[in-house]
Amino acid sequence: MAEDGKIASLVAELLKELGEDVQREGLDKTPERVEKALRYFTAGYGQDVKDVLNGAMFVEEYDEMVIVKDIDFFSLCEHHLIPFFGRCHVAYMPNRKIVGLSKIPRLVEMFSRRLQVQERLTTQIANTLNEALQPRGVAVVTEAIHLCMLMRGVDRTRKRSRRPCSGRSATGPRPGPSSWS
Ligand SMILES: [Zn+2]
Repeated sequence: MAEDGKIASLVAELLKELGEDVQREGLDKTPERVEKALRYFTAGYGQDVKDVLNGAMFVEEYDEMVIVKDIDFFSLCEHHLIPFFGRCHVAYMPNRKIVGLSKIPRLVEMFSRRLQVQERLTTQIANTLNEALQPRGVAVVTEAIHLCMLMRGVDRTRKRSRRPCSGRSATGPRPGPSSWS
């Protein structure tokens, strides 16, 4: 799928179409830079949940809520290929299985480095933890600023849009998003 230089030549075409002179000094290396950046921003396609979580799940008799707050994420909205970014907060109530804490930010990173909408990003993180850990409950909240909305003037409030998602297994209380804002 990934053919080196293919995106760069498409970007050169794009710049011409925008009326730019791709030979001018400032744009000389731009197509290659854009290709490199886009491959980095979408590197999550080359990873899956197993790559991130395997070997980091443990059985532990711990029944307090596990919370990881303020995980920075950067993603591209799939409608405009323009960034949306913000923070993600994750909480779960373990049911004998826990995951290494550093793996949660990596999971957020994997899903955010794909073309996304904020709702799906939030749900994928929650569902993945639900499936991997079968916790008594899981809650994920993302807060994001969408540059596609700000830059198009659709929204000038700079408010972060908030997307909560929670789920639970058969037993136990459901930690609602309101419990940790
Ligand atoms: Zn958008």
